[in-house]
Amino acid sequence: MLAVIGAAAAWFAEYPGNVSVDWSGWRINTSIGAAVFALALLIVVSAMLYRAWAWVRGGPKRTAAARQNSRRQQGYRALTQGMVAVAAGDATEAMLLAQAAEALLEDPPLTLLLSAQSAQLQGDEGAAEKYFRAMLGNPELEFLGLRGLLSQSLRADDNAAALEFARRAYALKPQTEWAQTTLFELQMASGNWKRAEALLQDMGRQSTLAAGQAEKRRAILLYEQAQAAKTDGDARRASRLAMKAHTTAPNFVPAAVLAAELFAAAGKQRKAAGVVATAWKVAPHPDLVGAFRGMWPNETPDKRLERFAQLVGDDAANEDSSGFMESKFGLARFAVDARDWAAARGHLAAITSDHPSARVCRLWAELEDAEHGPGLAARDWLMKAAVGASDPGWVCGECGEGSTEWSASCSHCQTFDSLSWRATGGGFDNRATSGGLDNRARSGPVDNRAAGGPATLMTLAAPGPNSESASAEISEDSPVPSGPSGADPAPGSAAASAPSVAQSLDTPVPPDVPVSDSGSGGSGD
Ligand SMILES: [Zn+2]
Repeated sequence: MLAVIGAAAAWFAEYPGNVSVDWSGWRINTSIGAAVFALALLIVVSAMLYRAWAWVRGGPKRTAAARQNSRRQQGYRALTQGMVAVAAGDATEAMLLAQAAEALLEDPPLTLLLSAQSAQLQGDEGAAEKYFRAMLGNPELEFLGLRGLLSQSLRADDNAAALEFARRAYALKPQTEWAQTTLFELQMASGNWKRAEALLQDMGRQSTLAAGQAEKRRAILLYEQAQAAKTDGDARRASRLAMKAHTTAPNFVPAAVLAAELFAAAGKQRKAAGVVATAWKVAPHPDLVGAFRGMWPNETPDKRLERFAQLVGDDAANEDSSGFMESKFGLARFAVDARDWAAARGHLAAITSDHPSARVCRLWAELEDAEHGPGLAARDWLMKAAVGASDPGWVCGECGEGSTEWSASCSHCQTFDSLSWRATGGGFDNRATSGGLDNRARSGPVDNRAAGGPATLMTLAAPGPNSESASAEISEDSPVPSGPSGADPAPGSAAASAPSVAQSLDTPVPPDVPVSDSGSGGSGD
């Protein structure tokens, strides 16, 4: 700027001249430099005057804007505090803050979620639904609204409406895990296998599922179809589907067990044994032993013991093999059936630690009872079983709840495909885990998991894999408390000749055993 002025001054000094103005009787004579300077001054002063005038004129507007800004800040604060109140479960506070936010923020979409959540917290599902539906009109909030409506219909057990909302949510955001899973479960629950299959393929195309996960879900889908076919009395179709499920995921034990049982029932023992052998290699599991045990009902127990020894092969000899424990337990089980006491003792001793698990103690009791008749040794083992280490079971990876049977969704938290076979680590109650859908715990509006999660899907819609035979089987037949195959005890098995122990096995402590209060107390549960 200074340089420009300097240059101009120099230029005018170099080229001097005069300016003469005549205007209504006035005459001004001055140099060109002074005239230019006067003109520049005039322009600057005019500009300053204009700005001052504009500032004065914009005063009211500025005040309004400042007020609006302050209101918006208060509104956002109310919104934030409202969300905190919702998270804290303070219904009254949440509602007051929602109303404040609604009044302060002239942006209805923004406050809809808080209003809906506080309405839910107040237990006013009708009002909440109104807000959720209002969200559907806003493209940015549609997904949230659908999630809210989906969770409402799941809690109301309205699967048809839930399916529709899940479909829309999936269409909007197919990459979202809960939308995928919920839609898949709902389709499975409604028996819409074709759509579930198509959805799986769609998810595969979008590569949103990990490789193993996709196969597992496909196996579950086929397994549920097989169960449905079995219930319908179509055994051929059921075994075909179960076999498909087994080949899709060989380590998915329930499918292998179902396929083996169906084949065995159809007189195809070789095929059944093949399925068990394949599954055993990747997942040595007590239910497979149970399936194997019921496979040749007309064979002698000795022959079955021999067949099982062939099946487990080196597993039983190698303590480091993943199948060692189950192999030994299965061999002991079959040896007791075959009344080969020495062999049974040998196998059991190999897996009896300082603090043996409950099923090991129970089998010891059965062995003592069968070999020597009811006596102190058997009772001693039963008492040990009551306080024995917990056996592995199906444990939900989401809520940690244990279950005696596999099911597609956890019976406690309803998470889909969350059960895995592992150590239960105490606190595993065979009986308490089988029922008890607790929807209330999950009804909170801030439940992030799949819109409160599907409330009752698989567990109610499709009968559990072994539901008819689940209750009575803990003791006498299968080594673990499950496995429908155990329902038909092998002929000539020791269980038949040892009613006293067999009958008492499904209770931790037999009623006729005198146990001190401190000893019983259900600590084995
Ligand atoms: Zn769970």
